[in-house]
Amino acid sequence: MSYIIDIMKGTIEPSADRISLERYVQESSFVTRYLSRVVKDKALVVYQVLFHLSWFETGKGEIVVPWARVGSFIRSDQGNIIDDSTTVKRRLSNLFEYKCIAVNQQRGSANEISVHLPSDIPACRDLIDREEREARIEPQEKDARDYYSDPERRLMVLARDHHACVYCTAPLSEENFVLDHLLPVARGGTNRKHNLVAACEVCNRRRSDSDPIHFLRENYRQQLLSQDEFLQQKQYIEVLLGESVG
Ligand SMILES: [Zn+2]
Repeated sequence: MSYIIDIMKGTIEPSADRISLERYVQESSFVTRYLSRVVKDKALVVYQVLFHLSWFETGKGEIVVPWARVGSFIRSDQGNIIDDSTTVKRRLSNLFEYKCIAVNQQRGSANEISVHLPSDIPACRDLIDREEREARIEPQEKDARDYYSDPERRLMVLARDHHACVYCTAPLSEENFVLDHLLPVARGGTNRKHNLVAACEVCNRRRSDSDPIHFLRENYRQQLLSQDEFLQQKQYIEVLLGESVG
């Protein structure tokens, strides 16, 4: 049985000096999500084998493995198993180059190898950091800015809404458009992009504080919108409302 399987089954207690199940699952996902962008296909496959032999089987990043065993996972272009250590090492140059593994010492035909976790591999770590930082910052940053008071950002909302009133599709120009708060300011609505839509003055005045979808339906009943337009605009407003909540 392997260390990870034993931990999953609860037949052994997690050991402090070995990987936790949660970390193992997370690091496995890093292999496919990030490391695959750092090292090439063949090297990646070998890394996956070494990752499995070490972290999955023993829970630790150190393994003693004959090169022939590593080589048996890499075929030459002719389909032969590679069993000489020079060729294996050459094929693995990517893994050494990016510090994915290190050979600690040679023991006869076997090597003691350190298999680094993806989050400990510098090039991979950079990718993880960048994406996690972006995932954290972007939604807040996108929402935090004031699109109502800033003249240039007002025009960005107008452009996003294709220079047409979202409630009646009347064409709008920079001179006659107004910005309408989906959730009224009086009820806690913000000046963030997702709470604002371009509208004509008439719709803005008529809607007042009523529910935007309700108001849109009213326009449809008054035949200011075709059925297709109504459904399209309804979906559009619902997406914006969904993003405002998030
Ligand atoms: Zn309108």
